Amino acid sequence: MKTEPQLPVGAAPSGLVHPWPEPPEGGTTILVAPGIRWLRMPLPFALNHINLWLLDDERGVTAVDTGTGLPPTRELWETLFAGELADRPIVRVLVTHFHPDHMGNADWLSRRFGVELWCPQAEWLMAQLAWQGSGGGDSDKRLAHYRRHGVPEAQIEALRERGNHYRQLVPTVAPEFRAVREGDVLTIGARQWHAFTVLGHAPEHACLFSPSGQCPDLGDQVLPKITPNVSVWPDQPRGNPLRLYLDSLARFRPLPEDTLILPSHGLPFRGLHPRLEYLRHHHEERLAEALDAIAEPRTAFDLVPVLFRRKLDTHQLGFAIGEALAHLHYLEAEGWPPVSSAATASTASRKPDPVARGRRTNRTCARPRDRQAPAVPGGGVPGGGSAMG
Ligand SMILES: [Zn+2]
Repeated sequence: MKTEPQLPVGAAPSGLVHPWPEPPEGGTTILVAPGIRWLRMPLPFALNHINLWLLDDERGVTAVDTGTGLPPTRELWETLFAGELADRPIVRVLVTHFHPDHMGNADWLSRRFGVELWCPQAEWLMAQLAWQGSGGGDSDKRLAHYRRHGVPEAQIEALRERGNHYRQLVPTVAPEFRAVREGDVLTIGARQWHAFTVLGHAPEHACLFSPSGQCPDLGDQVLPKITPNVSVWPDQPRGNPLRLYLDSLARFRPLPEDTLILPSHGLPFRGLHPRLEYLRHHHEERLAEALDAIAEPRTAFDLVPVLFRRKLDTHQLGFAIGEALAHLHYLEAEGWPPVSSAATASTASRKPDPVARGRRTNRTCARPRDRQAPAVPGGGVPGGGSAMG
């Protein structure tokens, strides 16, 4: 359901420095900082890879994120176990969020090494929910959501055929976990990692920041080339995830400019602050475009070609609808009426109802407000919370 399309929408990586121009070969790692290794796993999507991280721990390594539970990824894990990790067992599995490219092998690795899965509570719960729902039970609800927002029947049928493949990508979900919470400090090997959780892309996405090494793992929240998916999903049809996401970006501002960013997709980079500005500007532009577009009644489906100017496959369409809704809900919440959501409209007629109606207005007013958000623990601010690990 919530795989990672991370729709590329014209990112301009100006101001970013990539210390490593090439990723590691499959089954090998690159040392990016003392005690921090980078590995890469394949993904069966247009976005064809995910970065994972190995942190030196007391008797082995902590694996940060795990890849999908598909054979090509497990084969590469086996290559590592027989090679670079032959005498370095995994002693902890830490997952930033529930999306299948991150959670896919968490249970498999935990069982194999007899170690705990650490992740935020909401992410573990969402993994359980997505796994249960992927049996097909949520199909009608999910398709009704897309139909309500104007998706034509031919594409509804394609979405039905594609189904919800969370269970294929995450064969099992760990039956228990150890919570990573906002403000926790994890001692992993010689480093202390300050955990903070951010919203918008996932329910309780965990990020780690090491004040000693200035090497946060930002997961999917800040990426160097593509914009993280921020979507309204059928299970929370009135959500405003873009507000949550933009608020979360403010939390990274206290981090030093030379911080080495270890993202889940793309190459590690320096240049966090230009990237934060780009992401903010990107959504500001999309909000202005959406505001212009709803001068006439439009469904979220109508808005997709306005916001995404390229052909999308069925996999990407669900994310694009979600992103279009995220921008519309943001506008509505910020007081850009008249807006009436199709979420309250009957779907019995199967006619797409306008998701939003509006007048052409001064587009500069769509600028996202800059809310004050608490600083990242450890980002020049003493970290709080309890010691863990
Ligand atoms: Zn994700």
